[in-house]
Amino acid sequence: MSMEDYDFLFKIVLIGNAGVGKTCLVRRFTQGLFPPGQGATIGVDFMIKTVEIKGEKIKLQIWDTAGQERFRSITQSYYRSANALILTYDITCEESFRCLPEWLREIEQYANNEVITVLVGNKIDLAERREVSQQRAEEFAESQNMYYLETSAKESDNVEKLFLDLACRLISEA
Ligand code: GDP
Ligand code: MG
Repeated sequence: MSMEDYDFLFKIVLIGNAGVGKTCLVRRFTQGLFPPGQGATIGVDFMIKTVEIKGEKIKLQIWDTAGQERFRSITQSYYRSANALILTYDITCEESFRCLPEWLREIEQYANNEVITVLVGNKIDLAERREVSQQRAEEFAESQNMYYLETSAKESDNVEKLFLDLACRLISEA
């Protein structure tokens, strides 16, 4: 008899405008690196990382939306089986924040009702170029029942925390 090598398997999907840092966040978490230049494309549909929390082995299947960021091109099949969504914007790009309601409409339309959504403001290492205040983002996240976290894929700030907190939450609701 074969044993599974994990206790839980969760599918996490990253969404958000192109350029906000989704691929870099996934790479930072799964491979511990920040890709140089613009060459951040993974070229595969998902990456796997297994984490251990309170003695439980949790396999995270992390899906990156490479080049499909235009609304309505990421269709139902992509969202359907997601246990969690990481909706990412760039704190130095007001436009990426203003698009969030559009993403939320997609989530409402395509994701399952139990999906856990985390709002992530990425690129906090570029504090001097910030266009969206933390308070504004927190208020928006709260109004939409989302968790909020600010990260830097570049400096590895809060990236581990993002995925580990999400894994914790996913087990507690499993
Ligand atoms: P995606 O289109 O959402 O997958 O975004 P990418 O991960 O390809 O990143 C887009 C650009 O933003 C690249 O030039 C990255 O180097 C840069 N980038 C991503 N994350 C960060 C970050 O945390 N800080 C800074 N300064 N740049 C970042
Ligand atoms: Mg990408």
